[in-house]
Amino acid sequence: MGEELKQKLFKNKKTGWEGMSEEEKREIYNYAQGYMDFLNKGKTEREFVAEAKKVAESKGFVDVLKCETLKPGDKVYYINRDKSMYLAVIGEKSIEEGINIVGAHVDSPRLDLKPNPLYEDGELAYLKTHYYGGIKKYQWTTIPLSLHGVIVKPDGEKIYVNIGEGQNDPIFTITDLLPHLAQDQMEKKLKEGIEGENLNLLLGSIPYGSEETPERVKLNVLNILNQKYGITEQDLTSAEIEIVPAFKARTLGLDGSMVAAYGQDDKICAYTSLTAMLELDHVEKTAVCILSDKEEIGSMGNTGMESHVFDYFISELLNKTGINRPNLLDKVFCYTKMLSADVDAGFDPIYASVSDKLNAGFLGKGMSINKYTGARGKSGASDANAEFVAYVRKIMEENNIKYQVAELGKVDIGGGGTIAYILANKGADVIDCGVPLLSMHAPYEVTSKYDVYSAFRTYKAFWEAK
Ligand code: MN
Ligand code: MN
Repeated sequence: MGEELKQKLFKNKKTGWEGMSEEEKREIYNYAQGYMDFLNKGKTEREFVAEAKKVAESKGFVDVLKCETLKPGDKVYYINRDKSMYLAVIGEKSIEEGINIVGAHVDSPRLDLKPNPLYEDGELAYLKTHYYGGIKKYQWTTIPLSLHGVIVKPDGEKIYVNIGEGQNDPIFTITDLLPHLAQDQMEKKLKEGIEGENLNLLLGSIPYGSEETPERVKLNVLNILNQKYGITEQDLTSAEIEIVPAFKARTLGLDGSMVAAYGQDDKICAYTSLTAMLELDHVEKTAVCILSDKEEIGSMGNTGMESHVFDYFISELLNKTGINRPNLLDKVFCYTKMLSADVDAGFDPIYASVSDKLNAGFLGKGMSINKYTGARGKSGASDANAEFVAYVRKIMEENNIKYQVAELGKVDIGGGGTIAYILANKGADVIDCGVPLLSMHAPYEVTSKYDVYSAFRTYKAFWEAK
């Protein structure tokens, strides 16, 4: 008797794997394989956007700036300075009635090169770095690292760099002290054990020329760079080179149920929303996918979500669908609905004390919906309205997609933010809706394949909702 009533009244907290058919599992694993392949090709925001452009064009998306007019069913994209991208499928209804946005970010925590990075010490050559985003510095030593990015010459020539990913490429690393001599280091607080100024990448060890020449090892690596790319030391000042883990995205676990990879925050939501958008055909309201940059450092700058470039994109859609009255943007945003597609802290049993089990996202239990983020007393959160939470629940429940409503950690333990508040401030209904993740911001992050596929289904259902 009690069991029956419980079934009816309690929330269903079962894992998504429970009672799954082999066929469904195959579908999930296949999708996850495509995700992992994409991650290996798009480790940085520039690489991700370049790959996204390729697949979008193969599915009929065209550069919005090349379109004279737009009509329902048209598929367009806009690329902002190679680092962020907006895609849209034009809906049957006027854009004036609002749009449906899924917004993710494609930048991930990493190490950037300093503008003057190259030096020699102890007859070894190094590159100095400046970390990007919230990292635990000790995690970035003694692992294989690769170099990705661009060097731009004053005449505009752009040189693409990618070293450390190919089978025969060298990799790089940041050394750490041997335990035998680490007594003092081990007494330090974890956050001070490795200093930011010591995150220097080991680059070479062979000297060039005669012994009288100073900095001969530095000279040798510059010579190699000059032969390979035609650059000098000065050219490194107009470059954006990112240092990321050289690991490949891999299946994790004996049961093959999880993904271990670098940069899943937030390329997991970027990939799942992108692939969902590519499958859209006719939608009622215009569907927009945002792949933004700079989320990890506060969304500022002209490629971050705070920039007005997104408004420009929406203005283009308005103008080219023939709606040319002035000052319509505010109205569009006020009628807009958005899923802020970003990762959530997955419940980690080893560190259970930071989570409220009743309000945590668990791996394998589907999408994590965060009504609000923020810190302390919800500071800085956009806090979705109950009406909008209900709207999203309806979509999930009608499409049989598992979800969990959670928050990031216990009250007063910490906090976090996403791009949700930025669109909410413009007037849109926004809620955070993403994938729970273990080891967030670490060089190797962990997700459940079940949740990866749930994200794809969620974003598609949100755009297709009537
Ligand atoms: Mn994120
Ligand atoms: Mn993050």
